Amino acid sequence: MISVDEAREKIFQDLIPVGTEVVPINAALGRVIVEDIHPRRTQPPTDMSAMDGFAVRAVDVKTVPVTLKIVGEVAAGGCFTGVIKTGEAVRIFTGAPLPAGADTIIIQEDTEFDAGQVTVKEEAAKGTYVRPAGLDFKEGQIGLVAPRRLTARDIGLLAAMNIPWVTVRRKPVIALLSTGDELVRPGEPVGESQIISSNSLLIGAMIEAAGATALDLGIARDTEADIREKARSARSADMLVTLGGASVGDHDLIQPALASDGLNVDFWRIAMRPGKPLMFGQLKGQPLLGLPGNPVSGMVCSLLFLLPALNALVGLPPQRPPQLPARLAHDLKANDQREGYMRAEIIGVENGTPVVRLFDRQDSSMLSVLAAADCLVMRKPLASALPKGAEIMIIPLRDTYQTL
Ligand code: AMP
Ligand code: MG
Repeated sequence: MISVDEAREKIFQDLIPVGTEVVPINAALGRVIVEDIHPRRTQPPTDMSAMDGFAVRAVDVKTVPVTLKIVGEVAAGGCFTGVIKTGEAVRIFTGAPLPAGADTIIIQEDTEFDAGQVTVKEEAAKGTYVRPAGLDFKEGQIGLVAPRRLTARDIGLLAAMNIPWVTVRRKPVIALLSTGDELVRPGEPVGESQIISSNSLLIGAMIEAAGATALDLGIARDTEADIREKARSARSADMLVTLGGASVGDHDLIQPALASDGLNVDFWRIAMRPGKPLMFGQLKGQPLLGLPGNPVSGMVCSLLFLLPALNALVGLPPQRPPQLPARLAHDLKANDQREGYMRAEIIGVENGTPVVRLFDRQDSSMLSVLAAADCLVMRKPLASALPKGAEIMIIPLRDTYQTL
């Protein structure tokens, strides 16, 4: 058995980024840019007002109150063609270009005015409420550095930079093959001792949420021939993920079935709980990740290995899942030699640190507990027992704002 970290290293070594495509920015959320992006425009293009008020010369408002003559008006999208001279002001609105000669904005609230003149009641330093040209970004500078997964904020920035299209990695296609004589699809006729296949739906949803495409190959019966045939239908996928059949039972047939098709096993079995029977290898150059059949094990292994692998496939550094410190709401017994990822709920926050309670039931088949969990509590191999209140590390599961 190898460690979680060793397994992750081995997976990343073997993954090559997929090719690229050009997409409009309104379809680019979560996609990964492959080249640095340079603004095609300076923003703001010229000095602009940040407020509704009056454009003045700072020297004219050194002593207040002072009354100035209103010589014009300019709103966003407009233009004042003249030049402001000593003793003059121009009525101005947010986003309007600063008239020539003016260098300062007096906000409306600091004035009294009628049609012809304005009395400035508060002084203002030169440049107050003026957004100088290029404040946000300048044409030709670097706007976004590749590789980068685009967030909603990035999409806004790209639009402002006048970039309507971007070159991104295409979405990796991940083929999912479930295995097991006991499995039927949701909604199909189901026998007394059968179970509904949930694993491929769960992991397919994780893949889609991570910005890749899940290709469901269906359920292979527990025969070498069926596994081989269905796996062959995934040749064009960027990675094949098998679910179940990777353990040591008589019905665990992934390895024997694919051996004759050239499967090269890199490693098999990791010192972790849940998820021991994880396998990684190459099937004639196609990366193959063999996940355990139990849904909780499959999900945890996907979080630790598959999602980072998806990052590697789009040319991003393969990150580990984010971890946070938390405190235990109860005593915790010592761990054995397998790294642990236990389902837990966050029951409160003390001094800014989440307080977590492990679910009593940690069976790796239990989807109800997995769905209820707020986080996974991590345990190092052979970690000693911990008292209530001790600090432990968690992987939060409710981080829904990754692409914000
Ligand atoms: P296996 O690795 O094939 O021995 O599967 C381990 C356990 O996970 C067994 O109890 C299977 O019934 C269950 N299992 C395997 N595949 C799935 C699946 N796609 N959905 C739900 N449970 C599964
Ligand atoms: Mg099975």
